[in-house]
Amino acid sequence: MSTHKPQPPTAGTQRATEAATPSGENHPDLRQQALAKLQQFGASALPVEDEQNPQQLQEELRTHQIELEIQNEELRQTQFRAELASSRYQLLFEHMPQPALVIDQHAFMHESNHSARDWLGLGSGVKRASRHTPHATSLLHALQQTGKTQLRTLLRAGQRQQTQCLRDLTLTTHDGQLHHIDLHLFSLPLAYHSDSRFLVLLVDRTPEKQREQDRHLYQALLDSSHDLIYATDLQGGLMLANRTVLERLNINADQAQGTRRETVMPLRDAIVQDATDQQVLRTGQPINTYEELHGPPGSPVQVYMTNKFPLLDAEGQVLGVGGISRDITAERAAQQTQLLSENVFLFASEAIIVTDMAGRIVRVNAGFEKMSGFTSASVLGHKPSLLRSSRVGASVYKALWAALGEHGHWQGELINRHASGSLYTVHCSISALRSPTGELNGYVAVQTDVSQLKAAETEVQRLSHFDSLTGLPNRALLMDRLHQLLALAQRQGQTFGVLFADLDHFKEVNDSLGHLVGDELLCAIGQRLRDNVRSQDTVARMGGDEFVVLLPMTQRTDALNLAHKLQDALRQPLSLSGMHDYRPRASVGVAMYPEDGDTSDELLRNADTAMYVAKTSGRDRAELYTRAMSEEGARVFAIQTELSNAMQHNELRMYLQPKFSLADMSVVGAEALVRWERPAHGLTSPAEFIPIAEKVGLLPLIDHWMLTQMVTQLGQWYAEDRWPAHWTVSINQTASDLQQPHWLSDLQQTLADNQVPACLVQIELTESALLQPTPSMLERLQALRDLGVDLAIDDFGTGYSSLSYLKSLPITSIKIDQSFISDLVLDPPRHLDDSGRVLIEAMIALAHKLGHTLVAEGVENEAQRRLLHHLGCELGQGYLLSPPMPAAEFARRYLAPPARA
Ligand code: C2E
Ligand code: MG
Ligand code: MG
Repeated sequence: MSTHKPQPPTAGTQRATEAATPSGENHPDLRQQALAKLQQFGASALPVEDEQNPQQLQEELRTHQIELEIQNEELRQTQFRAELASSRYQLLFEHMPQPALVIDQHAFMHESNHSARDWLGLGSGVKRASRHTPHATSLLHALQQTGKTQLRTLLRAGQRQQTQCLRDLTLTTHDGQLHHIDLHLFSLPLAYHSDSRFLVLLVDRTPEKQREQDRHLYQALLDSSHDLIYATDLQGGLMLANRTVLERLNINADQAQGTRRETVMPLRDAIVQDATDQQVLRTGQPINTYEELHGPPGSPVQVYMTNKFPLLDAEGQVLGVGGISRDITAERAAQQTQLLSENVFLFASEAIIVTDMAGRIVRVNAGFEKMSGFTSASVLGHKPSLLRSSRVGASVYKALWAALGEHGHWQGELINRHASGSLYTVHCSISALRSPTGELNGYVAVQTDVSQLKAAETEVQRLSHFDSLTGLPNRALLMDRLHQLLALAQRQGQTFGVLFADLDHFKEVNDSLGHLVGDELLCAIGQRLRDNVRSQDTVARMGGDEFVVLLPMTQRTDALNLAHKLQDALRQPLSLSGMHDYRPRASVGVAMYPEDGDTSDELLRNADTAMYVAKTSGRDRAELYTRAMSEEGARVFAIQTELSNAMQHNELRMYLQPKFSLADMSVVGAEALVRWERPAHGLTSPAEFIPIAEKVGLLPLIDHWMLTQMVTQLGQWYAEDRWPAHWTVSINQTASDLQQPHWLSDLQQTLADNQVPACLVQIELTESALLQPTPSMLERLQALRDLGVDLAIDDFGTGYSSLSYLKSLPITSIKIDQSFISDLVLDPPRHLDDSGRVLIEAMIALAHKLGHTLVAEGVENEAQRRLLHHLGCELGQGYLLSPPMPAAEFARRYLAPPARA
């Protein structure tokens, strides 16, 4: 084996080399060239083998020689080509940019190229190193552990595969730098060596790896931002988006590329955002803008501060738009809250004072200026104590600071001093201001002026204790004062009186003249009562027409005298709207402490009972309470409850008392009088239950029953011709009956139904009811008269009325009260002055002057009858003539017997 270096081919070989095939096979041209050469040596033809002559032999030798030369030439050509290939390989091996090595199966490096030597710091000697060379180096040294292991495994496996690749290995170069490499291993043919050889190619992946790491880092940076960082292309498709964008738009990274806004956000937001993109693309300028992102209905709108800018490629061409959006929703909300707080501070009507931690004023609002009268400038730097008034004790401020120290808060009422010196009351709420870390920064006080509220409270207090109509203390205040009076009297052993007054006929005034006149009357009563008591006495209105007077340190007789004095005062003529000279009257009851009760309730109740007795025994009276009254009260109460069922149980009876002509004692009619057949009590007189019925509102029902009963009965008797046409029947009605809207028409109807001529009926109204008739009452009376019904004034003389008022009444008869008659002639006779008689004479004279008929009630003896007749009284009723009796008995006694059918 020749070891010489390849020689440049000769001119002849050059051509042959150029013609040689890469495989080195003999070429026909080569043989041609050899033959040509033989001919140059003089051989014209090839030796013939069977001619064994020297010449022939020589010829053969020459032929062999030529063949040998040809073969030799061929060999030379082949060697040349091999050496050429080897040198090309070496050239390539040496100069390729990737580090390349030839290693054995132990990774010892036998050959290395320029780059490999650079990397691994090898001398050129390694080129020819063998595994036995003492300074031979293993590639394994340069590799990190995983690389080492993997390479070893591969090498151990030998030549199973032609090429192998180990990726992502890390190699340390001789200068200590780390390189990321792919290691390609090519198994070399075992031509001249007993052991294996491998060509190793190291492909440096470090820049790529670096880029990848950079990309990761860059993405991590983007993702770590809470801002939305993104880029869109010219068509609006997403090119880049950080994690915040993906989260906000609720898309994953795989979907992000190319995604258009309108597919992941509300259209209105997408349109606005695209428009700003377009603006950036159009102008090539960055912009700052606010953007909104609407969530699902009901969720708050997110607000972003966005910076958008054009994205340029390396050549400066616009690629798209980059954007960084910062979510400022919370910031905005905080700003708005702050704005609101600021507005509240500025415009609040409350005074707001902010101090530093030393308590010096640093800020006040307009509300403060208005409330305190101090300007902002005049108080800054001062302490809020400049508002202090002497009305608030030091203990309050002590408690205030203690609460602030302990709880950071205090609230309560303070009385402040206004800049003008006047005082005003505030509700004050003070809070400590602390930083998020808990350090004290100062205090804020909010003060509400409650002076007006206080005044209103006082007014409410007053209203809740005083009657709004009369201004007198009301029931609540009266009870309060009564309790106090009681306690004082108990302590000091004093007596006092409770006076209960109830107006008489107040209902009539109210019903006929209206509530306004009623109110006017009540006010006047209140005033009169107040004007006639001592300053230490309390006059209160209990409600309705009831008044109570408390008389401290008063004896029984003095209390009664005062009651009379008050009644006199009330009776003075009074001008009311629509009625002149009204004389108010009241029934008064008096109870004394301690005799009549030792509690407030008991005293009031007993005074009320006494008043009730005064009322039922003729009104316009004053009564001192007695225990008997309570018993009477109990009785009255029992009547009251039973009476309500009396009509349903058919317990009422109609009695008739005949009326006589005093001249000849002939009957001229009758008066219908009600009776109650009360279970377990027997026949009960109307005198007992009528006042009670009136008080509880049952009287109109009783009157209606009597009227219907009487007219029906009359109709029957009249139809039977038993009732003479000149007789009249008197029916008692109360004034309030006539006030009822249907009373008159009902009467008319009843008369018609029973075919009773109106002139057979007379209605009796008591004098007290007619005492001060209102215009509407007079109208009704006239209407009644117009019907043809007679009208009598009953119990005349008891009502303290002036006789002149009779003129205005459309009456036909006057019934002189029996009290006058009984006083007139006593039986047995006893000495009397003539005043009773004079009075009756005057009544008769007046009545006759007015054209009225006179009826004497309660004629009990002949002397009375005679005198009355003598004085000119036409008619009379009385036990002398006949007591009241059941209707049937009356008929039997005084009417003609019914005609036999
Ligand atoms: P009055 O209308 O003045 O009736 C006369 C009263 O005097 C009757 O009392 C009668 O029984 C009584 N009397 C008659 N003659 C004598 C006598 O000689 N001596 C005495 N001492 N009394 C005599 P009575 O029936 O108890 O009625 C009392 C009052 O009750 C009546 O007084 C009347 O005002 C009222 N009254 C009776 N019935 C009714 C009624 O149906 N409706 C209304 N509103 N009041 C009635
Ligand atoms: Mg009567
Ligand atoms: Mg009478």
